[in-house]
Amino acid sequence: MDNWTIEPSDNTKNSSNAIFTIFNKIAPPSQINKTAYSLVAGDPSKCSDFQVNPAFVEAVNNSLKSGTGNSYSHQLGPKEAREFLAKKYSYPNIKLSADDIVFDFGGSGAIFTLIQTMLNPGDNMLVPSPGFPLYELMCRNRGCTAKYYKLKPYENWEIDFNELDAAVDERTKLLIIINPSNPCGSVFSREQLLQILDWAKNHQLCILADEVYEGLTFEKPFIPLGSLTDEVPVFSIGTMSKLCLVPGWRCGWIKIYDKYNRCR
Ligand SMILES: *Cc1c(COP(=O)(O)O)cnc(C)c1O
Repeated sequence: MDNWTIEPSDNTKNSSNAIFTIFNKIAPPSQINKTAYSLVAGDPSKCSDFQVNPAFVEAVNNSLKSGTGNSYSHQLGPKEAREFLAKKYSYPNIKLSADDIVFDFGGSGAIFTLIQTMLNPGDNMLVPSPGFPLYELMCRNRGCTAKYYKLKPYENWEIDFNELDAAVDERTKLLIIINPSNPCGSVFSREQLLQILDWAKNHQLCILADEVYEGLTFEKPFIPLGSLTDEVPVFSIGTMSKLCLVPGWRCGWIKIYDKYNRCR
């Protein structure tokens, strides 16, 4: 009985996230005259200079103290919060209702849910390179393939559409874009976003727009993809982790822009 062991599932064996091998290799320089912070984990809240707005903490405190924050919420998330986000993220071309917002366990949970919802085993999705390693990991766990398309380093990390053309096939279910880009720090122009929408429309694909870094563009204008189309279904990912400096709260959401209910 001493050598009684239990093998992990294939999914578990397949689940190393490449990002952790990168984390350990990057450290702030030690030989400079300033305090240096490592932002490699995307978590500035660990530094004393970047702290959550006290209003958020107070709101959560109040909710816990009042005893109203302890119950199961609606399966899509608390109605008031969904109504708030629906209003905030509606645009002249497309109005969201509370049911177009789906809360999840951080942005990662939202991405996981979308992959489970949109892909069957054997399907694939198109993922930017450089990009965010989580996509490949979650895709593999669904029995699917992440097909990479390259961004152009000398042209503002724009998309090489030849790469998209070469990668797309009849099992492609989602086009992933990350805008503002993690890790490139670039922000797509309106022209580029319109080109992306055009491409997706021609291939009748929907888009997962990872927009978790909205608001952190260092003065470049950020244009939400959902505000530019009513034709192409867009799932926009948001999270309090990056917007509000509280990655430990695990609170993210999907905004569904699908005016004509193409996504059944
Ligand atoms: C941080 C991040 C996520 C995940 O957000 P969490 O709320 O931390 O799960 C998703 N996509 C990108 C590009 C990110 O940087």
